[in-house]
Amino acid sequence: MAKIFCVANQKGGVGKTTTAINLAASLVVHKKRVLLIDIDPQGNATMGSGIDKNAVELTSYQVLINQSTIEDVRIRSEIGGYDVLPANRELSGADLDLVQLEDREHQLKKALEVVDDQYDFILIDCPPTLSLLTLNGLSAAHGVIIPMQCEYFALEGLADLVNTIKRVHKNLNANLTQIGILRVMFDARITLQQQVSDQLVEHFKDNVYKTIIPRNVRLAEAPSHGIPGINYDQNSRGAKAYVQFSAELIKRVKKLDKA
Ligand code: ADP
Ligand code: MG
Repeated sequence: MAKIFCVANQKGGVGKTTTAINLAASLVVHKKRVLLIDIDPQGNATMGSGIDKNAVELTSYQVLINQSTIEDVRIRSEIGGYDVLPANRELSGADLDLVQLEDREHQLKKALEVVDDQYDFILIDCPPTLSLLTLNGLSAAHGVIIPMQCEYFALEGLADLVNTIKRVHKNLNANLTQIGILRVMFDARITLQQQVSDQLVEHFKDNVYKTIIPRNVRLAEAPSHGIPGINYDQNSRGAKAYVQFSAELIKRVKKLDKA
């Protein structure tokens, strides 16, 4: 059975896609079988995995509206060593199509049942909204990884996301239990970031991952080459941090399975 994690935060530019891509590639380093699902019409996770979003015929859109199966749509990221369910602009109309479907929040979950035993981890890169797309992601997942920059306004909006997750847990998906905040783009020299980081730990305790992802230019350069950061420069601080984060996640999942 695959462990399914959403990478979600309704703010844009907070490091969701960077986390999804690099976590996928890092889990491969640990010999895990990984599927990365792009449900953001921007298609950044697709492009960043080395797949041309404009050249793909089928995307997660067809899967969500139940016109294609995941097995028909997925593409291998040769450079990352994982499978990708790609996305592009076509997906921007999906919310309207989904509204008309029965059981509209569970489309992705149903589609995933078929490939569940083919992967160890399935990661879902969510759009910067709390839309039906994100709800489909959350309804399919065991956990949510929330990337956060430790800035003054970072906590703003977190309450909305946490409430949405609670609602999904109660009404749509009782399996959604592993919520974790990942500190990203961190610069320890900035006192405010350190303070916000401390506040996060104080407030959310064990729900904050121990690993911190530093701000690292190699991670920012990688997407324009269509290569996951950890494959682009495996010795960079950013790459090492993501490999460490993937080890932490694997350990957490194991511990919870035993409990
Ligand atoms: P989101 O998916 O939440 O919109 P992205 O992952 O696309 O966010 O990141 C937003 C921008 O920040 C991108 O240009 C990305 O390359 C850059 N970025 C993300 N994480 C880091 C990091 N740890 N260090 C430096 N730049 C980063
Ligand atoms: Mg993104």
